[in-house]
Amino acid sequence: MAWDKTNSGRGGSKWRAKRARVFNRDQYLCQICKRNQKITPVALHGAKHGICDHIKPLAEGGTDKEEDLQCICQACDRLKTFNESAHGRGVPPAEHSTKPFYKNVGLDGWPTDPDHPANRPGNV
Ligand SMILES: [Zn+2]
Repeated sequence: MAWDKTNSGRGGSKWRAKRARVFNRDQYLCQICKRNQKITPVALHGAKHGICDHIKPLAEGGTDKEEDLQCICQACDRLKTFNESAHGRGVPPAEHSTKPFYKNVGLDGWPTDPDHPANRPGNV
């Protein structure tokens, strides 16, 4: 693998060892599924490999420390990545995106529609 050449960064052996420690700590279970009362075992390698995920995105002040990392499954990773990038663009999360929100956006870019998920109590 090309990114195996260096010993630093995400692809290096340090990162791999850290990832293994995080997976061990999390008992090889997806932590997002676990919070949803679902048991999703993941592997370190292979088709069912889990993802060593930043609990808080690096862009939002997260770090590469073990306590800021968690073991998650591929499905949760896809959803999280999608929601995070959507969040970054001010777009509502995937499960709310069936409604056309963009017609009711104020000058500040905030949706004026009271039914918009961003305007619901608990989401602000
Ligand atoms: Zn999961």
